[in-house]
Amino acid sequence: MARGRDRHQAHQQALAGLGRVLSRRAGSSCELCGEGAGLRPFEVEGGPSEPDPEWAVLACERCREAMGPKGRWSAGELRFLETAVWSDVVPAQLAAVRLARRVAEAGEGWARDALDGLYLDPSVEVLL
Ligand SMILES: [Zn+2]
Repeated sequence: MARGRDRHQAHQQALAGLGRVLSRRAGSSCELCGEGAGLRPFEVEGGPSEPDPEWAVLACERCREAMGPKGRWSAGELRFLETAVWSDVVPAQLAAVRLARRVAEAGEGWARDALDGLYLDPSVEVLL
């Protein structure tokens, strides 16, 4: 068990270590909503086992909570996804589209409209 925990810790440290490169890319704001406070790297599912900037986004607490395993969000606070799904930063676009899908599945019409009107590059679509 201890070894698993060590590995988890090393992984979290490596992820935190992406902070600087992600901040530079993101202009020190949340890559989904643009918020400037409480930013931390968040790993986008589906990437390599080692944290990778191409599979991570800089995200504020609200967005991390919404994207996290518990998926805590209130739809009224997520309208920024209408813009974020068009991000030209691939991991941010992936994260935004996945979250918008969850929101749409929960019955939010605006999220469904945002996804319906979205053009996704085929190279991004295969990653979803
Ligand atoms: Zn955010």
